[in-house]
Amino acid sequence: MSIFEDTAPRATRRRPLRVAILGCSGSIGTQTLDVCRKHADKLDVVALSAYRSTEALVSAAREFGATHACVADDRHGSDPVLDELPAGCELSVGRSALAEMAALPDVDCVVNALVGAAGIRAGYEALRAGKVLAYANKESIIVAGDLLMPLAQPGMLIPVDSEHSAIFQALTGARTTEVYKLWLTCSGGPFYGRTREQLAHATAAEALAHPTWLMGDKITIDSATLMNKGFEVLEAHHLFEVDIDDVEVLVHRQSRIHSMVEFADGSTIAQLGPSDMRIPIQYALSYPERWDTPSERIDWREASALTFGDADEQTFGCLRLAREAGRTGGTMPCVLNAANEVANAAFRRGACGFLDIERIVGFAMEAHEVQVVSSLEQLEEIDLWARGMAYQALADVMA
Ligand code: MG
Repeated sequence: MSIFEDTAPRATRRRPLRVAILGCSGSIGTQTLDVCRKHADKLDVVALSAYRSTEALVSAAREFGATHACVADDRHGSDPVLDELPAGCELSVGRSALAEMAALPDVDCVVNALVGAAGIRAGYEALRAGKVLAYANKESIIVAGDLLMPLAQPGMLIPVDSEHSAIFQALTGARTTEVYKLWLTCSGGPFYGRTREQLAHATAAEALAHPTWLMGDKITIDSATLMNKGFEVLEAHHLFEVDIDDVEVLVHRQSRIHSMVEFADGSTIAQLGPSDMRIPIQYALSYPERWDTPSERIDWREASALTFGDADEQTFGCLRLAREAGRTGGTMPCVLNAANEVANAAFRRGACGFLDIERIVGFAMEAHEVQVVSSLEQLEEIDLWARGMAYQALADVMA
Protein backbone atom coordinates (compact mmCIF):
# COMPACT_ATOMS: atom_id res chain seq x y z
CA MET A 1 0.00 0.00 0.00
CA SER A 2 1.31 3.39 -0.93
CA ILE A 3 0.97 6.39 1.33
CA PHE A 4 -0.22 8.20 -1.80
CA GLU A 5 -3.12 5.81 -2.36
CA ASP A 6 -5.68 8.53 -1.80
CA THR A 7 -4.04 11.42 -3.60
CA ALA A 8 -2.34 9.85 -6.64
CA PRO A 9 -4.35 10.39 -9.81
CA ARG A 10 -5.75 7.15 -11.16
CA ALA A 11 -7.19 7.98 -14.52
CA THR A 12 -8.41 4.67 -15.88
CA ARG A 13 -7.14 3.75 -19.29
CA ARG A 14 -8.10 0.92 -21.56
CA ARG A 15 -5.49 -1.85 -21.94
CA PRO A 16 -4.28 -2.42 -24.48
CA LEU A 17 -4.45 1.27 -25.28
CA ARG A 18 -5.42 1.78 -28.93
CA VAL A 19 -2.98 4.35 -30.27
CA ALA A 20 -2.91 6.65 -33.30
CA ILE A 21 0.49 8.13 -34.16
CA LEU A 22 0.30 11.29 -36.25
CA GLY A 23 3.68 11.88 -37.86
CA CYS A 24 4.97 8.33 -37.46
CA SER A 25 8.06 8.74 -39.65
CA GLY A 26 9.65 11.68 -37.82
CA SER A 27 11.93 11.65 -34.82
CA ILE A 28 9.18 11.50 -32.16
CA GLY A 29 7.09 9.18 -34.35
CA THR A 30 9.79 6.55 -34.77
CA GLN A 31 10.68 6.71 -31.08
CA THR A 32 6.98 6.24 -30.25
CA LEU A 33 6.94 3.16 -32.47
CA ASP A 34 9.93 1.90 -30.53
CA VAL A 35 8.02 2.22 -27.25
CA CYS A 36 5.01 0.45 -28.82
CA ARG A 37 7.32 -2.35 -29.99
CA LYS A 38 8.65 -2.84 -26.46
CA HIS A 39 5.20 -2.79 -24.84
CA ALA A 40 3.18 -4.58 -27.50
CA ASP A 41 1.06 -6.21 -24.78
CA LYS A 42 -0.14 -2.82 -23.52
CA LEU A 43 -0.13 -0.67 -26.65
CA ASP A 44 -1.98 -1.44 -29.85
CA VAL A 45 -1.02 0.74 -32.83
CA VAL A 46 -4.19 1.12 -34.89
CA ALA A 47 -3.65 4.30 -36.90
CA LEU A 48 -0.61 5.92 -38.49
CA SER A 49 0.04 9.01 -40.53
CA ALA A 50 3.03 10.38 -42.41
CA TYR A 51 3.45 13.55 -44.42
CA ARG A 52 5.17 12.13 -47.47
CA SER A 53 7.33 9.23 -46.19
CA THR A 54 5.02 6.60 -47.62
CA GLU A 55 7.61 3.85 -47.43
CA ALA A 56 8.08 4.29 -43.67
CA LEU A 57 4.30 4.49 -43.27
CA VAL A 58 3.72 1.20 -45.10
CA SER A 59 6.49 -0.56 -43.25
CA ALA A 60 5.12 0.52 -39.83
CA ALA A 61 1.54 -0.30 -40.83
CA ARG A 62 2.65 -3.82 -41.81
CA GLU A 63 4.71 -4.38 -38.68
CA PHE A 64 1.99 -3.21 -36.27
CA GLY A 65 -1.05 -4.34 -38.25
CA ALA A 66 -2.54 -0.85 -38.35
CA THR A 67 -6.09 -0.55 -39.65
CA HIS A 68 -5.88 3.11 -40.68
CA ALA A 69 -3.12 4.89 -42.62
CA CYS A 70 -3.04 8.50 -43.71
CA VAL A 71 -0.77 10.37 -46.14
CA ALA A 72 -1.06 14.08 -45.37
CA ASP A 73 0.59 15.35 -48.56
CA ASP A 74 -1.87 14.81 -51.50
CA ARG A 75 1.03 14.59 -53.96
CA HIS A 76 2.06 11.29 -52.37
CA GLY A 77 -1.42 9.85 -51.94
CA SER A 78 -0.99 7.38 -54.81
CA ASP A 79 2.63 6.34 -54.36
CA PRO A 80 2.96 2.75 -55.67
CA VAL A 81 4.30 1.49 -52.32
CA LEU A 82 0.87 2.17 -50.77
CA ASP A 83 -0.42 -0.95 -52.57
CA GLU A 84 1.55 -2.90 -49.99
CA LEU A 85 -0.46 -1.67 -47.02
CA PRO A 86 -1.73 -4.68 -45.05
CA ALA A 87 -5.11 -6.15 -45.97
CA GLY A 88 -7.96 -4.32 -44.25
CA CYS A 89 -5.90 -1.17 -43.71
CA GLU A 90 -7.91 1.85 -44.80
CA LEU A 91 -5.99 4.62 -46.59
CA SER A 92 -6.91 8.29 -46.38
CA VAL A 93 -5.16 11.24 -48.03
CA GLY A 94 -4.83 14.96 -47.33
CA ARG A 95 -4.58 17.44 -44.48
CA SER A 96 -8.22 17.12 -43.43
CA ALA A 97 -7.84 13.34 -43.14
CA LEU A 98 -5.39 13.95 -40.28
CA ALA A 99 -8.04 15.64 -38.15
CA GLU A 100 -10.42 12.77 -38.92
CA MET A 101 -7.79 10.24 -37.85
CA ALA A 102 -7.47 12.06 -34.51
CA ALA A 103 -11.16 11.41 -33.83
CA LEU A 104 -11.52 7.77 -35.01
CA PRO A 105 -13.93 5.78 -32.80
CA ASP A 106 -11.49 2.87 -32.35
CA VAL A 107 -8.67 5.10 -31.08
CA ASP A 108 -8.17 5.80 -27.34
CA CYS A 109 -5.01 7.86 -27.48
CA VAL A 110 -3.58 10.19 -30.11
CA VAL A 111 0.16 10.83 -30.19
CA ASN A 112 0.50 14.16 -31.97
CA ALA A 113 4.03 14.23 -33.39
CA LEU A 114 3.24 16.57 -36.27
CA VAL A 115 5.66 19.43 -36.87
CA GLY A 116 4.55 23.04 -36.59
CA ALA A 117 1.22 24.76 -36.98
CA ALA A 118 0.01 21.90 -39.19
CA GLY A 119 -0.59 19.85 -36.04
CA ILE A 120 -2.93 22.20 -34.24
CA ARG A 121 -6.26 21.11 -35.71
CA ALA A 122 -5.56 17.42 -35.12
CA GLY A 123 -4.85 18.07 -31.43
CA TYR A 124 -8.01 20.10 -31.12
CA GLU A 125 -10.13 17.37 -32.75
CA ALA A 126 -8.57 14.67 -30.55
CA LEU A 127 -9.53 16.49 -27.35
CA ARG A 128 -12.96 17.33 -28.70
CA ALA A 129 -13.53 13.64 -29.39
CA GLY A 130 -12.55 12.76 -25.81
CA LYS A 131 -9.25 11.06 -26.68
CA VAL A 132 -6.16 11.03 -24.52
CA LEU A 133 -3.85 13.49 -26.28
CA ALA A 134 -0.14 12.78 -25.85
CA TYR A 135 1.31 15.73 -27.64
CA ALA A 136 4.77 16.57 -28.89
CA ASN A 137 3.28 19.24 -31.16
CA LYS A 138 3.77 22.12 -28.74
CA GLU A 139 2.29 24.58 -31.26
CA SER A 140 -1.14 23.16 -30.35
CA ILE A 141 -0.75 24.61 -26.87
CA ILE A 142 1.38 27.69 -27.62
CA VAL A 143 -0.80 28.98 -30.45
CA ALA A 144 -4.20 27.50 -29.62
CA GLY A 145 -3.94 26.94 -25.86
CA ASP A 146 -6.87 29.31 -25.31
CA LEU A 147 -9.03 26.92 -27.37
CA LEU A 148 -7.53 23.56 -26.32
CA MET A 149 -7.11 23.95 -22.57
CA PRO A 150 -10.84 24.30 -21.83
CA LEU A 151 -11.38 20.96 -23.65
CA ALA A 152 -8.80 19.05 -21.60
CA GLN A 153 -10.22 16.82 -18.86
CA PRO A 154 -7.88 15.72 -16.02
CA GLY A 155 -5.46 13.02 -17.20
CA MET A 156 -6.43 13.46 -20.87
CA LEU A 157 -3.76 15.94 -22.00
CA ILE A 158 -0.23 14.66 -21.41
CA PRO A 159 2.93 16.42 -22.58
CA VAL A 160 5.62 14.47 -24.41
CA ASP A 161 8.11 17.32 -24.29
CA SER A 162 10.76 16.20 -21.77
CA GLU A 163 10.62 19.39 -19.68
CA HIS A 164 6.85 19.40 -19.40
CA SER A 165 6.75 15.69 -18.72
CA ALA A 166 9.22 16.36 -15.86
CA ILE A 167 7.02 19.11 -14.42
CA PHE A 168 3.91 16.99 -14.90
CA GLN A 169 5.61 14.19 -12.94
CA ALA A 170 6.86 16.55 -10.22
CA LEU A 171 3.37 17.96 -9.80
CA THR A 172 1.72 14.57 -9.32
CA GLY A 173 -0.30 14.76 -6.12
CA ALA A 174 0.42 18.47 -5.65
CA ARG A 175 -1.91 21.44 -5.66
CA THR A 176 -1.14 24.04 -8.32
CA THR A 177 -1.89 26.80 -5.77
CA GLU A 178 1.19 25.61 -3.85
CA VAL A 179 3.55 26.14 -6.80
CA TYR A 180 5.97 29.03 -6.37
CA LYS A 181 7.69 28.75 -9.75
CA LEU A 182 8.68 26.34 -12.47
CA TRP A 183 12.35 25.83 -13.38
CA LEU A 184 12.55 24.87 -17.02
CA THR A 185 15.96 23.39 -17.76
CA CYS A 186 17.78 24.13 -21.00
CA SER A 187 20.94 22.51 -22.39
CA GLY A 188 21.89 25.94 -23.78
CA GLY A 189 21.90 24.60 -27.32
CA PRO A 190 24.90 24.21 -29.63
CA PHE A 191 25.80 27.93 -29.51
CA TYR A 192 25.82 28.38 -25.74
CA GLY A 193 28.46 30.91 -24.63
CA ARG A 194 28.82 32.61 -28.01
CA THR A 195 28.71 36.38 -28.42
CA ARG A 196 26.36 38.20 -30.79
CA GLU A 197 29.30 38.80 -33.14
CA GLN A 198 30.01 35.06 -33.26
CA LEU A 199 26.34 34.18 -33.67
CA ALA A 200 26.09 36.45 -36.71
CA HIS A 201 28.28 33.93 -38.59
CA ALA A 202 26.75 30.70 -37.22
CA THR A 203 25.53 28.24 -39.86
CA ALA A 204 22.78 25.65 -39.92
CA ALA A 205 25.29 22.84 -40.50
CA GLU A 206 27.07 23.75 -37.25
CA ALA A 207 23.81 23.77 -35.29
CA LEU A 208 22.72 20.43 -36.74
CA ALA A 209 26.05 18.73 -35.99
CA HIS A 210 25.80 18.31 -32.21
CA PRO A 211 22.32 18.14 -30.77
CA THR A 212 22.06 16.92 -27.14
CA TRP A 213 18.78 15.20 -27.94
CA LEU A 214 17.87 13.18 -31.01
CA MET A 215 15.48 15.59 -32.76
CA GLY A 216 14.31 16.75 -36.16
CA ASP A 217 16.08 19.58 -38.02
CA LYS A 218 13.47 22.26 -37.37
CA ILE A 219 13.54 21.84 -33.60
CA THR A 220 17.33 21.54 -33.56
CA ILE A 221 17.56 25.05 -35.04
CA ASP A 222 14.90 26.24 -32.58
CA SER A 223 17.11 24.84 -29.82
CA ALA A 224 20.09 26.79 -31.13
CA THR A 225 18.18 30.11 -31.17
CA LEU A 226 16.51 29.21 -27.81
CA MET A 227 13.17 29.81 -29.56
CA ASN A 228 12.34 26.26 -28.56
CA LYS A 229 12.90 27.18 -24.92
CA GLY A 230 10.78 30.29 -25.39
CA PHE A 231 8.00 28.09 -26.81
CA GLU A 232 8.36 25.83 -23.81
CA VAL A 233 7.89 28.78 -21.44
CA LEU A 234 4.58 29.53 -23.19
CA GLU A 235 3.65 25.87 -23.18
CA ALA A 236 4.27 25.57 -19.41
CA HIS A 237 2.30 28.75 -18.77
CA HIS A 238 -0.79 27.32 -20.50
CA LEU A 239 -0.46 23.73 -19.39
CA PHE A 240 0.20 24.34 -15.69
CA GLU A 241 -1.62 27.69 -15.36
CA VAL A 242 1.45 29.54 -14.12
CA ASP A 243 2.30 33.17 -14.99
CA ILE A 244 4.81 33.61 -17.82
CA ASP A 245 7.23 35.28 -15.42
CA ASP A 246 6.98 32.43 -12.92
CA VAL A 247 8.50 30.10 -15.51
CA GLU A 248 12.25 30.46 -15.13
CA VAL A 249 14.72 29.15 -17.72
CA LEU A 250 17.74 27.46 -16.17
CA VAL A 251 20.77 26.50 -18.24
CA HIS A 252 21.83 22.99 -17.28
CA ARG A 253 24.39 21.65 -19.74
CA GLN A 254 24.31 17.99 -18.69
CA SER A 255 20.60 17.49 -19.54
CA ARG A 256 20.12 15.17 -16.58
CA ILE A 257 17.52 17.23 -14.74
CA HIS A 258 14.60 17.62 -17.12
CA SER A 259 12.88 20.38 -15.12
CA MET A 260 11.84 21.23 -11.57
CA VAL A 261 8.95 22.61 -9.57
CA GLU A 262 9.63 24.94 -6.66
CA PHE A 263 6.85 24.96 -4.09
CA ALA A 264 5.62 27.64 -1.70
CA ASP A 265 7.55 26.15 1.22
CA GLY A 266 10.92 26.35 -0.58
CA SER A 267 11.10 22.67 -1.52
CA THR A 268 12.06 21.94 -5.11
CA ILE A 269 11.17 18.65 -6.80
CA ALA A 270 13.03 17.63 -9.94
CA GLN A 271 12.74 14.77 -12.41
CA LEU A 272 16.04 13.27 -13.58
CA GLY A 273 16.91 10.64 -16.14
CA PRO A 274 18.69 9.84 -19.41
CA SER A 275 18.33 12.27 -22.33
CA ASP A 276 16.10 9.86 -24.18
CA MET A 277 12.78 11.06 -25.56
CA ARG A 278 11.38 7.54 -25.36
CA ILE A 279 11.04 7.97 -21.58
CA PRO A 280 8.63 10.93 -21.66
CA ILE A 281 6.87 9.37 -24.68
CA GLN A 282 6.37 6.16 -22.74
CA TYR A 283 5.19 7.99 -19.63
CA ALA A 284 2.54 9.79 -21.68
CA LEU A 285 1.30 6.38 -22.84
CA SER A 286 1.64 4.53 -19.52
CA TYR A 287 0.27 7.28 -17.27
CA PRO A 288 -0.69 6.90 -14.47
CA GLU A 289 1.42 3.72 -14.45
CA ARG A 290 5.17 3.31 -14.94
CA TRP A 291 6.50 0.54 -17.16
CA ASP A 292 9.98 -0.96 -17.79
CA THR A 293 12.37 1.57 -19.26
CA PRO A 294 13.03 1.64 -23.02
CA SER A 295 16.42 3.26 -22.33
CA GLU A 296 19.82 2.66 -20.73
CA ARG A 297 19.78 3.39 -17.00
CA ILE A 298 22.10 5.96 -15.43
CA ASP A 299 24.52 4.89 -12.74
CA TRP A 300 24.35 8.03 -10.63
CA ARG A 301 27.70 7.25 -8.99
CA GLU A 302 29.26 7.91 -12.38
CA ALA A 303 27.26 11.00 -13.23
CA SER A 304 29.33 14.13 -13.62
CA ALA A 305 28.60 17.28 -11.62
CA LEU A 306 25.31 19.00 -12.31
CA THR A 307 25.78 22.67 -13.11
CA PHE A 308 23.33 25.55 -13.44
CA GLY A 309 23.41 28.96 -15.05
CA ASP A 310 21.34 31.81 -16.34
CA ALA A 311 19.84 31.88 -19.84
CA ASP A 312 21.01 34.97 -21.73
CA GLU A 313 17.97 36.69 -23.26
CA GLN A 314 20.06 39.57 -24.57
CA THR A 315 22.28 37.32 -26.68
CA PHE A 316 19.50 34.94 -27.65
CA GLY A 317 16.79 37.38 -28.70
CA CYS A 318 14.27 34.68 -29.65
CA LEU A 319 13.85 33.75 -26.00
CA ARG A 320 13.06 37.40 -25.20
CA LEU A 321 10.57 37.62 -28.09
CA ALA A 322 8.79 34.47 -26.97
CA ARG A 323 8.36 35.83 -23.45
CA GLU A 324 7.03 39.08 -24.89
CA ALA A 325 4.53 37.17 -27.03
CA GLY A 326 3.47 35.19 -23.97
CA ARG A 327 2.94 38.32 -21.87
CA THR A 328 0.88 39.89 -24.67
CA GLY A 329 -1.07 36.65 -25.17
CA GLY A 330 -4.06 36.41 -27.53
CA THR A 331 -2.98 35.93 -31.13
CA MET A 332 0.62 37.12 -30.61
CA PRO A 333 2.06 33.61 -29.98
CA CYS A 334 0.49 32.56 -33.30
CA VAL A 335 2.48 35.31 -35.06
CA LEU A 336 5.63 34.34 -33.16
CA ASN A 337 5.29 30.73 -34.25
CA ALA A 338 4.37 31.31 -37.90
CA ALA A 339 7.11 33.90 -38.49
CA ASN A 340 9.60 31.61 -36.80
CA GLU A 341 8.65 28.69 -39.07
CA VAL A 342 9.46 30.86 -42.10
CA ALA A 343 12.70 32.22 -40.62
CA ASN A 344 13.85 28.82 -39.34
CA ALA A 345 13.36 27.23 -42.79
CA ALA A 346 15.10 30.18 -44.49
CA PHE A 347 18.10 29.80 -42.17
CA ARG A 348 18.28 26.06 -42.85
CA ARG A 349 18.46 26.64 -46.60
CA GLY A 350 21.08 29.38 -46.17
CA ALA A 351 18.78 32.25 -47.19
CA CYS A 352 19.41 34.28 -44.03
CA GLY A 353 21.80 34.54 -41.09
CA PHE A 354 21.28 33.23 -37.58
CA LEU A 355 20.48 36.64 -36.07
CA ASP A 356 18.07 37.38 -38.93
CA ILE A 357 15.73 34.79 -37.44
CA GLU A 358 14.95 37.05 -34.48
CA ARG A 359 14.80 40.12 -36.77
CA ILE A 360 12.20 38.46 -38.99
CA VAL A 361 10.11 37.27 -36.04
CA GLY A 362 10.38 40.66 -34.32
CA PHE A 363 9.26 42.43 -37.50
CA ALA A 364 6.10 40.34 -37.79
CA MET A 365 5.27 40.74 -34.10
CA GLU A 366 5.68 44.49 -34.24
CA ALA A 367 3.31 44.74 -37.21
CA HIS A 368 0.62 42.65 -35.53
CA GLU A 369 -2.46 44.07 -33.85
CA VAL A 370 -3.27 41.50 -31.22
CA GLN A 371 -6.73 39.92 -30.98
CA VAL A 372 -8.49 37.64 -28.51
CA VAL A 373 -8.29 34.01 -29.76
CA SER A 374 -11.75 32.99 -30.96
CA SER A 375 -11.39 30.10 -33.44
CA LEU A 376 -8.99 27.85 -35.33
CA GLU A 377 -10.02 29.60 -38.56
CA GLN A 378 -8.99 32.96 -37.11
CA LEU A 379 -5.63 31.48 -36.07
CA GLU A 380 -5.12 30.00 -39.53
CA GLU A 381 -5.73 33.40 -41.08
CA ILE A 382 -3.30 35.15 -38.74
CA ASP A 383 -0.78 32.38 -39.31
CA LEU A 384 -0.93 33.09 -43.06
CA TRP A 385 -0.67 36.83 -42.51
CA ALA A 386 2.37 36.39 -40.26
CA ARG A 387 4.08 34.19 -42.85
CA GLY A 388 3.53 36.95 -45.42
CA MET A 389 5.13 39.49 -43.07
CA ALA A 390 8.03 37.12 -42.43
CA TYR A 391 8.67 36.69 -46.18
CA GLN A 392 8.63 40.47 -46.53
CA ALA A 393 11.20 40.81 -43.76
CA LEU A 394 13.24 38.00 -45.31
CA ALA A 395 13.29 39.80 -48.66
CA ASP A 396 14.59 42.89 -46.82
CA VAL A 397 17.45 41.06 -45.10
CA MET A 398 18.40 39.35 -48.38
CA ALA A 399 18.42 42.64 -50.33
MG1 MG B 1 11.90 20.14 -24.75
